[in-house]
Amino acid sequence: MISAVKGMNDLFGKRAMRWGRMEEDIRRIVENANFTEFRTPILEEIALFKRGVGETTDVVQKEMYDFLDKKGRHVAMRPEGTASVVRAFIEHGIAMNEPMPFKLYYIGPFFRYERPQKGRYRQFHQLGIEIFGDETPQMDAEMIFTACRVLEHFKIDYEVHINSIGCKECRPAYREKLVEYFSSKKEHLCEDCQKRIDTNPLRLLDCKTCNPKAKYHDIPVMTDNLCGSCDTHFKQLKNALEIFHVNGIIDPFIVRGLDYYTRTAFEIVANTGGSQNAVAGGGRYDNLVSDIGGPDTPATGFAMGLERLFDLISEDFYTEPLISAGYALCDEAVDDLVHFAKHMSHHPVRFFADYKPKKFKKALQKADKAGAEFMFIIGEDEAKDKKILMKNLNTGEQKLFGQHEVILIVNELLNYESGKFSATKV
Ligand code: AMP
Repeated sequence: MISAVKGMNDLFGKRAMRWGRMEEDIRRIVENANFTEFRTPILEEIALFKRGVGETTDVVQKEMYDFLDKKGRHVAMRPEGTASVVRAFIEHGIAMNEPMPFKLYYIGPFFRYERPQKGRYRQFHQLGIEIFGDETPQMDAEMIFTACRVLEHFKIDYEVHINSIGCKECRPAYREKLVEYFSSKKEHLCEDCQKRIDTNPLRLLDCKTCNPKAKYHDIPVMTDNLCGSCDTHFKQLKNALEIFHVNGIIDPFIVRGLDYYTRTAFEIVANTGGSQNAVAGGGRYDNLVSDIGGPDTPATGFAMGLERLFDLISEDFYTEPLISAGYALCDEAVDDLVHFAKHMSHHPVRFFADYKPKKFKKALQKADKAGAEFMFIIGEDEAKDKKILMKNLNTGEQKLFGQHEVILIVNELLNYESGKFSATKV
């Protein structure tokens, strides 16, 4: 038997329906905040991620799905969205052709060769938003607020952790302080962190393997080492977050896995009865556009993991749609059922027909199995009189309609559905 590739999931049935509705809600929320969709390909040249995400990051060093195509080009399946969007932003001259700030979002699959476990997959999905051409801390606050609005819509309990990781001016000196601090502790660090001292010392701060932040309590932090303009930016960010009513907890150990961040970095963790679950993260990346060869353009954004979001949404957040089913009990009734199905298809009700004639008892069993709450029956008598029998499978109540009385039937279904919906709302 051939099974799915490790770490990649199928989605169908009720879960697929709920996922679709979750995506629709997300699109509505971010589109109302004036973000427009931006689609980029799954495949990019690997050089983009090496330059954009950073050679020393885990994502690039260990987790890339990369291969040579038939012409020997080295390509990779996108591990995150920002680098691709920045590539497209430069390629299409958006800085010249569109009004700034340019606000966009994307929803789609991403690929990382990680060890699969709950909440961590090799194909996963993200909502991302990015804002180009605005360096203000207020725009960072709006960006973080947008992530919060999504979580609040789904009634999720969360915490926002914020930090500033400085800029080209102040970070090099801080980096040196970290190198100096950890050099004397090298033998107590994990193998990866021993290498990170030289390649990417900031990543020592959020290492989950040797966890230095739990062991040492005098690690120098970036927020004590910011230059004047980064310090002002961070203060104004905190102020704007307060106005947005976002309660950001200052966490100097948020450094993010990707190299491109400047100043604002944040993560959102969901509180799930004792445990915490990283659901979104992002920050400012003022140098990435110019590093990849574009015009100097400040930018900020976040990515939210949709599998993690999906698992946090309560089972009863979405009510199931009302399903009704139509059956013919004899050959003479089949064409009538086809007519009925055609007319029902024009209305906003979820109806399906089963055209193969069957006994009443069998039809009842099939309707029940399909989760239908209403069943329509055309038997010999009904076919003769051009009638159709409607049966409420919850109450057993039956009503006879003329086959052409589709509007009456649909109204009956919609009223029942809205009654059920308001009953569950109370
Ligand atoms: P990142 O792009 O690493 O900042 O990740 C942003 C968010 O995407 C995380 O907070 C997770 O919710 C989600 N995420 C990242 N990697 C995975 C993965 N392998 N599987 C599922 N979700 C992921």
